[in-house]
Amino acid sequence: MMRSFSILLLACLCAVSSAFGQNTDQSRFRQLGVELPTPNTYRTASGAPGEDYWQQRADYDIKVEIDDEKQRLYGKETITYTNGSPHPLSYIWVQLDQNVVHPNSDTYKTTTNKMNERTTLTQLNMMTDTSFDGGFKIDYVRDATGKALPYVIHKTMMRVDLPTALAPKTGKVVLQIGWWYNINDRQNPALSADSRGGYEFFPEDGNYLYTLAQWFPRMAVYDDYNGWQHKQFLGKGEFTLPFGNYTVAITVPSDHVVAATGVLQNAKEVLSAEQLRRFEASKTSDKPVVIVSQEEATAKEKTKATTKKTWIYKAENVRDYAFGTSRKYIWDAMGVKLDGAAHNPIMAMSYYPKEANPLYGQYSTEAVAHTLRVYSKHTFPYPYPVAISVEASNGMEYPMICFNYGRPEKDGTYSDRIKYGMLSVVFHEVGHNFFPMIVNSDERQWTWMDEGLNSFCQFLAEQEWQRDYPSGSGPARSIIPYMKADKSVQNPIMTNSESIIQFGNNAYGKPATALNILRETVMGRELFDFAFREYSRRWAFKHPTPADFFRTMEDASGVDLDWFWRGWFYTTDNVDISLDKVTEFALDTKNPDLEKPVLAAKAKSQLENDVTYQANKRDLQTVAVERNPALRDFYNSYDPNTVTASDKQRYQQYVQTLSPKERELLESGKHFYQLDFSNKGGLVMPLIIKFAFEDGTSMVKHIPAEIWKLNDKEVSKVFVTDKPVAQFILDPNEETADVDTSNNVFPRGVTPSRFELFKQQGGGRFGGMPMENPMQQARKAEQKN
Ligand SMILES: [Zn+2]
Repeated sequence: MMRSFSILLLACLCAVSSAFGQNTDQSRFRQLGVELPTPNTYRTASGAPGEDYWQQRADYDIKVEIDDEKQRLYGKETITYTNGSPHPLSYIWVQLDQNVVHPNSDTYKTTTNKMNERTTLTQLNMMTDTSFDGGFKIDYVRDATGKALPYVIHKTMMRVDLPTALAPKTGKVVLQIGWWYNINDRQNPALSADSRGGYEFFPEDGNYLYTLAQWFPRMAVYDDYNGWQHKQFLGKGEFTLPFGNYTVAITVPSDHVVAATGVLQNAKEVLSAEQLRRFEASKTSDKPVVIVSQEEATAKEKTKATTKKTWIYKAENVRDYAFGTSRKYIWDAMGVKLDGAAHNPIMAMSYYPKEANPLYGQYSTEAVAHTLRVYSKHTFPYPYPVAISVEASNGMEYPMICFNYGRPEKDGTYSDRIKYGMLSVVFHEVGHNFFPMIVNSDERQWTWMDEGLNSFCQFLAEQEWQRDYPSGSGPARSIIPYMKADKSVQNPIMTNSESIIQFGNNAYGKPATALNILRETVMGRELFDFAFREYSRRWAFKHPTPADFFRTMEDASGVDLDWFWRGWFYTTDNVDISLDKVTEFALDTKNPDLEKPVLAAKAKSQLENDVTYQANKRDLQTVAVERNPALRDFYNSYDPNTVTASDKQRYQQYVQTLSPKERELLESGKHFYQLDFSNKGGLVMPLIIKFAFEDGTSMVKHIPAEIWKLNDKEVSKVFVTDKPVAQFILDPNEETADVDTSNNVFPRGVTPSRFELFKQQGGGRFGGMPMENPMQQARKAEQKN
């Protein structure tokens, strides 16, 4: 009896451990070997910078003037470039990103398009409009003494040849460059997407608002794993830049307000006494203080000064420089105190035209402060003295300053989409200060290293702003539609920026969600948060690579994540684990008092459900043995399932042979369930199984992903419960991004779903009916009452 039980368990164990002789080289658990570069003295196997780690440095002294009549930028710069590398450099590369809007730009040449019956005017404009005379006009390239240096412009890059090679480790060279360019219209889709900055013209008041980005010739990065990173700027792969100190003098119309990277050096010369007083007050205020009010800005829109003013800024240890300027700017600021920060208070500030109110006035600076607090908690204390949000028609990030969209309707109402879009873009763009402005990854190569990590932290900031915040990325379920779609329009996260299909899903949504799954489901918050902070801290003000991130996350947490990086970052597999089958094994106790009533009930139920038995009961009033007693004997009244004295005696003898432990198990009444899983999506993931018991209670078991280590296609596991289970649910809280949950439940249920009836194909949810936003509807309802 006990023996048959033992055999049963043994059979189960066999099924669990019988791997199908997999080739270990193909296992999803094989360590990341050739995929990662060999560790060296620059970058260690632990993921930390090595003892010989080095990087270059570029310091800038720039004078720039904005011509508000012609929308032109004129600049002169002195770059002091320091060779930290152990190599002599006989030429250096400078980035000329404005050339992305040069009429001859490769970006235009390599943009693919097709004509179709519904080609829009915008598309047509993008194909035909070559009238804009964009790109850098380089006036000169000289050395420190003013002597011309030979240079070659290669599209968005410029090589400058040095008369004598820069000495390893210590060499310095001074470059002087003069240039100008026509500023592009930021609203023009043919020009704006790739240039990032530009001007916006407001026809109602005839004023311009400028956001200046990639506006000066900038040093390219030379490093230990690329040499010179001079991959052309085609529009998607952003910027990789060395750190340095900047002094920038910005000359603009005297009624403009300038928002710029760094700390204003001549506030007394450019601000009025009243503005200066308000600015000082904002430093100790716990809510935003208005320095230039909407009324003041609106008044200036009409007068338009013809004189000029120069705003002087200094910024230390930044990798880039951007600024905004306009007479339309409203300006508010608030001091933020952060534990351990180098600057206290840090000035959180916002600059925006009246068109951005009331949203920006209420939320922008508060959102900047919130971002600094949340990101600092998860990485390192924000090291810069200011953090600025500037309202502009699309979002983009630079050190200490970013340009963000989010404009209400003209009546001051706005939809929830605009409100949360505005908040999220401020969290996101301010968050970019951490990745990649400080943790300075190579954006031209890997978009995910800044956008993915930043989108993950943006999710943390959103969830710490409001409990039911409608986050776009982060929750596992948010990435399912992308990951379950056609593989021919996906590529792995580890794909060069320019070759990414579905940019937002691939480089923002998927890595952000993967990191959140690591934090909440695979590693747990304690291990994840420590490792993520360690990565951020190690690589602050340095240039990390993907391997440095992957290695640090493992090294600091003690969790083997090679399978996770391999599956989520190097493939387009998705998560689809199916709970194929559940087999219940009941234990035969051999106790006649327990087992025989079960057998009796089973026999009775079988008989009563038999179709012939039922039909005869209906059709035949009597049968032979009922009509004729002579046909009956002992067995007509005998029930083989009656417990007899000899049954009991036999059972007592059997029990005597058992040890107390065996006896306990026999009497425990436990339930044995064999669960068979198959991996249909490819990604191995932990198994999270909810047991819904017949009595209405439930329990959840977490099985690590390593359950797939011997066989990543099929696994079985036996679970023993005290109570009978009514239903098994895999991933009950939808935390693994499983793309098909219909196979997660056993027994299978009916999956509720809805379909929409469209009036006509492509008609949208309400067939293109105009919609008022909820604030407008509420106002209308209020007026009626
Ligand atoms: Zn971003």
